[in-house]
Amino acid sequence: MRFDAAIIGGGAAGNMTAWLLARRGYKIVVLEKKGSIGKEVCGGLVTHRVLEMSKTEAVLNEIKGAYVYFPDGREICIGGDKTHAYVIDRRKFDSELAEKAMAEGAVYKLKFAVKKISGDRIEGKEDIKFDYLIGADGALSKVAKQFDMGDIGYINAVQGEAKIHADENFVRVYINKSIAPGFFSWIIPDGEKARIGLGSSEKGLKKKIDDFAKMLKAEIKNVKGGIIPVGMRKFFRDNVALIGDAAGQVKATSGGGIYASLLAANILAENFPDFKKYEEEFMKKFGREIKKTILARKIFLKLGNEDFNYIANYIEKEIEIINKYGDIDYQAKVAKEVVKRHPAIAVYLLKKIIWP
Ligand SMILES: Cc1cc2nc3c(=O)[nH]c(=O)nc-3n(C[C@H](O)[C@H](O)[C@H](O)COP(=O)(O)OP(=O)(O)OC[C@H]3O[C@@H](n4cnc5c(N)ncnc54)[C@H](O)[C@@H]3O)c2cc1C
Repeated sequence: MRFDAAIIGGGAAGNMTAWLLARRGYKIVVLEKKGSIGKEVCGGLVTHRVLEMSKTEAVLNEIKGAYVYFPDGREICIGGDKTHAYVIDRRKFDSELAEKAMAEGAVYKLKFAVKKISGDRIEGKEDIKFDYLIGADGALSKVAKQFDMGDIGYINAVQGEAKIHADENFVRVYINKSIAPGFFSWIIPDGEKARIGLGSSEKGLKKKIDDFAKMLKAEIKNVKGGIIPVGMRKFFRDNVALIGDAAGQVKATSGGGIYASLLAANILAENFPDFKKYEEEFMKKFGREIKKTILARKIFLKLGNEDFNYIANYIEKEIEIINKYGDIDYQAKVAKEVVKRHPAIAVYLLKKIIWP
C-alpha cells in the first residue's frame, strides 16, 4: 500500500505526528516494532503544555515542587506554592495519542520492526510505499543511521519503582557525582508508587541504582534501562525527517523530551511536507533552548561535588527568583536571572571550563 507518510516508531513523537497529519487528511501509516504502544522507561514528568497539546487523561499526580539534595547534605526546597508539573502514565499517554491518530484514519502496524528502506519502500513483513518518511524511532534511530543524519551522544539511564514518598507532591533530585556521575538521580511520586532512577555518563548503572536504593533504604523493583540522547541530528534530508528522540529534541540538562516531541509534531504537521520550514520553525521555537541545555551540560560535566555545593549557596539565596522564573520546559531563563544577579557564578564556571 502507498501512504503520504510512513512514520517509524509509535512513541510520543510518532503518535502525535500521526494524529495531527491524519487530522489534516493525509494518509498515514505508523510502524512500531513492539507488540503494544507505550514507553516503559520514562519519568513521565511533564508540564501543563504537554497536557494542553495532547489533551491527555493519563495524569496520575500533580507536582508542586522539588527537594534538591546536594553532596554536602543540604536539602533545598524549590516551589511548593502551586502545581508546577504533572506525572503521567506513559503507557496510557502514548496509547491515547495512537487511538486519536487511528480515529483520524491513521493505520497502525505493530510488531513491524523496520530493518531496511529502499527508495520509497519499507521492506518488512509487508511492503509499505511512501511519499515521505518520518523517523520517530527513538534515540538510536535506524532512520538517522541509514540516511546519515548525524551522530549524537547519549546518557545511559535506569529506572524502577518503590513505595517511598509515593503519595507526595514533590519530586526529589540528587545532584551528586558519587551517586550519578555525569547526570543526576530522581524520585518521582506517581500517587501509588515512586519512579526512582538515575542517569550517568559512566557504565555500571546496576550497581549505581543498587547503591542509591541502599542510601534511600528502599526496595526498587522492576528496574529497566533507557537511553537519553544528547545533541541534535539533522532534522531532514530530502523526503525524510526525524522527530523526537531520533532528532535529539531533548533537554540535555534534564533528559526531558516529551514536550519537545509534541511541539515538534505540531510544527511538522503545520508545515508538512516542507521539512526545511519544520526545522527552521522548531529551531526558532525550541532549538535554541535545547542548544543552551547542551552548553549547560558541557559545563556540568566539568563540575565536581564541591562545585555543586558552591552553586547551592546561590540557589539558597535566590529561591524567590528561582520560584518566579523556574520552568521545566524553558530552563535557560531562570539560569540567566540568577547569573544576572550573581555574575560571580559566571566567572567561577568560566574558570572551571578553562582550568578544570
Ligand atoms: C529514564 C528516562 C526518564 C525520562 N523521563 C522523562 C520525563 O520525566 N519527562 C520527559 O518529558 N521526558 C522524559 N524522558 C524522555 C522521553 O521518554 C523521550 O524524550 C520521549 O519518549 C521521546 O519520544 P519518541 O517518540 O521520540 O521516542 P520513544 O518514546 O522512544 O519511541 C520510539 C518508538 O520507536 C520504536 N522503534 C524503534 N526502532 C524501530 C524500528 N526499527 N521499527 C519500528 N519501530 C521502532 C520503539 O519501539 C518506540 O516505541 C525520559 C527518558 C528516559 C530514558
